[in-house]
Parts: sequence; C-alpha cells; structure tokens
Amino acid sequence: MESTAIDDRLFVELDPPLLAGSSCGDCDVVVFPAAHRCPGCTGEYVTRIALPNRGTIWTWTTQAFAPKPPYQPSSSGFEPFVVGYVDLDAVLVESRIVGEVAIGDEVELRLLDVGGGQVTFAFARVVS
Ligand SMILES: [Zn+2]
Repeated sequence: MESTAIDDRLFVELDPPLLAGSSCGDCDVVVFPAAHRCPGCTGEYVTRIALPNRGTIWTWTTQAFAPKPPYQPSSSGFEPFVVGYVDLDAVLVESRIVGEVAIGDEVELRLLDVGGGQVTFAFARVVS
C-alpha cells in the first residue's frame, strides 16, 4: 500500500521527501508550515518553496506524556518520543526526531509511519 501524507500541506513531495515552506517576496521571511500570508510583514506575496532536507539540531527534548488531541497514541499505548527544533538555515522546524541526537548534530528528513497508511515527517541523524 502506498503511503499518503497525514497532511498534504506539509510536503512538496514524498519521494524523496521534501517539506513545503513559504517564502515572502517582500521581506524574505521563510516559514513552516507554508502560509498564505507573511507572518513577518502580513504581505500576500508569498511563494511555496521546498525546504532543505538537511539541517542541524538546534535543541531537543523528550515528550514524556501524551500530547492533547488531535494526537492519537498508538494502540499499544503512549510511548515517550523525542521532539526538537531543526535549523534549516532560513527557518527553524519543530519536528519528531528519530533516534538519538545532540545539539549541533546534522540531521536529514525522513518519513515517519503513523499507521493507517499515513506518514508524517521526522528528522534523523546523518550517518557519516
Ligand atoms: Zn514578509
């Protein structure tokens, strides 16, 4: 079964995965997820762009309790997971993190299976 994005607006494409951000033509602010108006200058001259698929860990933490809905724990119950901010140069992206990381580690975009044939995004350390 082919996977589909949990939210189409997150991705430019799934294979290879690329996140969709938006860039303001007036003030150059880049945001993720993509927006129809610029949060920097409220301008409407924003373009949907593919964000870089590699960045560095800006900071991270362990999510030790289940988030509020719409988060749905797996059928086997909630398990703690790692979340972090990934510095993609133009923008910081909050993301699930797969595996262990440290601040400053280089990470790359992955697809994360969330069940039901759906995927979301995550970052994992680049293995050199
Ligand atoms: Zn702007």
